[in-house]
Amino acid sequence: MIEINFDKIIKKVVQHKRKQHDDNRAKKQRKNSDVYPSSLGYCMRKQVMDAGGMSDGTVDAGLQVIFWHGNLIHDEVVFPILAYYFANIYNDDEFHIDVVNEKPFKIVEVVNGTKLYFKGYIDDLIKIFIKIPTFTVSDDSDTSGIGGISKNYDTKLIEEIPIEVKSIGNKFYQLKEPKMTHFVQLMIYLGTHKFKYGYLLYVHKATLKSKMYKVKFDQKVYNSFLHRAKTIYDHKEKGTIPYAESLVESKKYDKEEDIPFYRVLDTLDGDYWFKQEDMCSGCPYLFFCIDNEKEIDAE
Ligand code: SF4
Repeated sequence: MIEINFDKIIKKVVQHKRKQHDDNRAKKQRKNSDVYPSSLGYCMRKQVMDAGGMSDGTVDAGLQVIFWHGNLIHDEVVFPILAYYFANIYNDDEFHIDVVNEKPFKIVEVVNGTKLYFKGYIDDLIKIFIKIPTFTVSDDSDTSGIGGISKNYDTKLIEEIPIEVKSIGNKFYQLKEPKMTHFVQLMIYLGTHKFKYGYLLYVHKATLKSKMYKVKFDQKVYNSFLHRAKTIYDHKEKGTIPYAESLVESKKYDKEEDIPFYRVLDTLDGDYWFKQEDMCSGCPYLFFCIDNEKEIDAE
């Protein structure tokens, strides 16, 4: 007799798909100069150690299902809804709007003489076109003997707005501001593409309620993130391991609610950032980091 256990089946399917994805990715070798904006805001040490192959890369099957569900919310809910709205409901004499799903990009930024290759996908790119009316005069005469004039329009792209979508569980209800890792990701999209602003969209998985945060481009903040990417690159090149960034920084403050979000933007200190995200619990390097907080030289 065959027993059907959906809980086991979903884990197996997601693991199988993830393995295919990982195998494909392994074929494309990552270089030290490759920068993935979705990772850049995470603990510097973890990024360098992962890149050095110091973890076996296994991700818990339950977690994989959660990630998969997050992708599903974007692919099957958010993008189709945006696309449907702008194609079928939104109607404006002045503008025409298209939505692009998962727009890939690879953009070079030179930081202190080093070329860094920023790569990734923008979840949803809103493209705004202005409508330019055109008139066509036909020779056909109607019964009144007057030729027909038909009105149409050409379009010209005037603006693009990226939306980064994050699905979230019940922490949704406590969310008062975007997470720093997501903020970094979006700021890199803004800077590399010269976008003026974009949105972080958090969708509650169970109810599809959402919170949206508008993020404006800020050159000073963007530069600091470019330097962060360069620091990580330098560690990879030299074979050094950065200090245990998340562990050290998160110890500095006990009461995270006392530190407003703008503090991070004003000072660009890492402290609040790491307190908020709690990157260490569940990290495979935690025991190593507890014993080795300082930067480690190349052997
Ligand atoms: S345990 Fe914390 S400090 Fe160490 S690598 Fe992981 S996230 Fe970074």
